[in-house]
Amino acid sequence: MTARVIDGRLMAAEIKSEVRRGAEELFRTRNITPGLAFILVGDDPASEIYVRSKGKACEELGFRSVTERRPSTLGEAELLGMIAAFNADPAIHGILVQLPLPPHINEQRVIEAIDFRKDVDGFHPVNVGRLVLGLKCLRPCTPAGILELLVRSGNDPGGKHAVVVGRSNIVGKPVSSMLMQKQPGANAAVTVVHTGVKEIAPLVKQADIVVAAMGRPRSITGAMLKPGCVVIDVGMNRIADPSAKNGTRLVGDVDFASASAVASAITPVPGGVGLMTIAMLMKNTLQAASGESGS
Ligand code: NAP
Repeated sequence: MTARVIDGRLMAAEIKSEVRRGAEELFRTRNITPGLAFILVGDDPASEIYVRSKGKACEELGFRSVTERRPSTLGEAELLGMIAAFNADPAIHGILVQLPLPPHINEQRVIEAIDFRKDVDGFHPVNVGRLVLGLKCLRPCTPAGILELLVRSGNDPGGKHAVVVGRSNIVGKPVSSMLMQKQPGANAAVTVVHTGVKEIAPLVKQADIVVAAMGRPRSITGAMLKPGCVVIDVGMNRIADPSAKNGTRLVGDVDFASASAVASAITPVPGGVGLMTIAMLMKNTLQAASGESGS
């Protein structure tokens, strides 16, 4: 079997054009332009790239965006003050503090300082709690993008057995919670595996859907998969590659060559889940601007 490649680029473009139409409608009917504030602390090059591409997506969709850059010496109190100002600003509907933050700043305190109705990353405990309860909320972007990829590629998780490899707060836990909800586009039997599980291979072998989010390059191989399963590769690992221009290459948590010989569908890295994350951020910002963040 040669797996069909699930094209994240195409689906992200589809979602963005739906969001663009939604934003035009919001402006026409209520004179609201979605506004997104980015706060970038320090000079981490990867964070700089992420914030720039999110800002570009705002431009593309006609959203208002503000980027506040501060040095890594910024104090926590000053950062909390910036968040309070954006919380109070009616033109700002979404606030995104780019993580990671410098070690002297308490990340959880920062997340909890954001008004949950403007928490477009979906990390605030109110949104996490509402997600688990199956209530309307701002959902974390990468997990929400994974569910969109599955449904839009014709692989509805309903009634399937999904195995999620990884239990982080930003991917593994929320995606497993979303997959198990008694809702259309979810409703799967879910197994979550992590480093506390002695042998993950026998569990992965039972999966109709594998979501690999472990941050370990090419760890899930074709031999571990059930023939015909669907593979969603969340991993973004930079590995050395002397043949590449900058000496490195981006690979997923799945060994694409061997996995695509066994699976029926698979997401590539790059070109899969990563592109959906920004599209879902835009969708969340539109949702917040429409006053539908779940409050
Ligand atoms: P993380 O916080 O490091 O969590 C990794 C999880 O995988 C942990 O739960 C860990 O288990 C588990 N794990 C690690 N090695 C394992 C193994 N050998 N067997 C079983 N479980 C194992 O990572 P993350 O933030 O969730 O990110 C995961 C990957 O997704 C990374 O490559 C990251 O770059 C990528 N990512 C991509 C996007 C995107 O937009 N495409 C967004 C976010 C993250 P323990 O809990 O037991 O330690």
